[in-house]
Amino acid sequence: MTYEKNDVVTVLIEDMGNEGEGIGKIDGYTIFIKDGVMGDVIEAKIMKVKKNYAYGKLLRIIEKSPYRVEPRCTVHRQCGGCQIQALSYEMQLKFKENKVKNHLLRIGKFSYDEIEKSKEEMIGMDEPYYYRNKAQFPVGRDKHGKIITGFFAGRTHTIIPNKNCCLGIKENEQILEIIIKHMERYQIVPYDEYTKKGLVRHILIRYGFSTGELMVCLILNGRKEQFTCLTKMIEDLCTIKGMASICVNRNEENTNVILGKEIQVLWGKGYITDKIHGMTFRISPLSFYQVNPLQTEKLYEKVLEYGDLKGNENVWDLYCGIGTISLFLSKKAGKVYGVEVIPQAIKDAKKNAIINDVHNAEFFVGKAEEFLPEYNKKYGEKADIIVVDPPRKGCQKELLETIVHMKPDRLVYVSCDSSTLARDLRFLCDRGFELKRWVCVDMFGMTVHVETVCLLEKKVQ
Ligand code: SAH
Repeated sequence: MTYEKNDVVTVLIEDMGNEGEGIGKIDGYTIFIKDGVMGDVIEAKIMKVKKNYAYGKLLRIIEKSPYRVEPRCTVHRQCGGCQIQALSYEMQLKFKENKVKNHLLRIGKFSYDEIEKSKEEMIGMDEPYYYRNKAQFPVGRDKHGKIITGFFAGRTHTIIPNKNCCLGIKENEQILEIIIKHMERYQIVPYDEYTKKGLVRHILIRYGFSTGELMVCLILNGRKEQFTCLTKMIEDLCTIKGMASICVNRNEENTNVILGKEIQVLWGKGYITDKIHGMTFRISPLSFYQVNPLQTEKLYEKVLEYGDLKGNENVWDLYCGIGTISLFLSKKAGKVYGVEVIPQAIKDAKKNAIINDVHNAEFFVGKAEEFLPEYNKKYGEKADIIVVDPPRKGCQKELLETIVHMKPDRLVYVSCDSSTLARDLRFLCDRGFELKRWVCVDMFGMTVHVETVCLLEKKVQ
């Protein structure tokens, strides 16, 4: 049987894809239906037909899945932020672990037994909402011309208005209201993604969960002087408890990258601080910092556990950000070296070493895949333990080759994308390493994303 656009079908959602989309089958023909939850029987309209599969739109739930829960957010279906809010948290964890297992199996070519034998119990969150310490709200206009802020709908530049996202902190709403009110009063123009005109692009808010410090950063397509009567707005923002830093970032590029390179502090300090396991970290607007601080503690504990340091090892922390993992490991290591591409983050890392009285850590600005091979060639330094925590695209081949050459006793791979993780693990395991242990740590409740920590050891010959 063939299906055509606009056909209405009844289908059981049997599975969920990597992006959280429901997957159903009729007569062996696959239909992908966004917002369908595993176990639902739904009525869907066929929207797009391909040779072996089709895309459908959820019209009506006929029979509710036992795994379906009431989402807290009213715009969760339109907004691109959460994909699986309607799936119970318990099943979200299973879904994510399965996704990682599948990648290890299909891309990593590890055997089912190898994967199961080395797997440790997934670390979920106690409270899967209100966990994010950072939010970046695009600013624009609705179709009536009113200034709005919220989140982009998945893969578009359409803003879904939402000032109190339930993944973020409650202070977001008040901050956004002050800024939008100010923009309306002084006719400050939001940026238009289509014409590339207008001033205010994004509002970045960061919060230190353990210190209560707040940072607001306005991302402007222009100079700060164009944002008129700033003093009044700053006064209003400062009434919010914890306000520690107000700054602007200039970004006049035609790009999807949110932040430009230049930061100007308008009020307070140019950073906020947060604490992880009693260590204090200074975070600048341009620096990466894990978005879920409670789970970050658990993630770093795993890195420490897998590192199994005895006290005199040479440790490399590649993609080190503001040096959090490096400094966390430094207490138990001989010497720690951190490498990171963003200069501002390395500046923070160096400051963080001083703040925490760490004297055995050294930090370098550079691309891991360029810096490590060069350093190794020059100094031939031995590495006992290497930690990598790359962005989604994973590690470059040049870096992996250098790691193989350096032959560390242990390699701890922290990954936010299990498909590139599986690819990189295969490369390493074909060249003398063995996958010993791995665990998923959920840092991103309600979304399809998950963090994975893996321990690789040198194969005994
Ligand atoms: N380990 C840190 C940061 C991890 S995020 C933490 O837990 O906080 C990944 C980091 O890699 C980011 O700070 C990013 O700026 C940096 N990065 C991206 N590409 C890089 C590259 N090629 N070489 C070095 N660092 C890179």
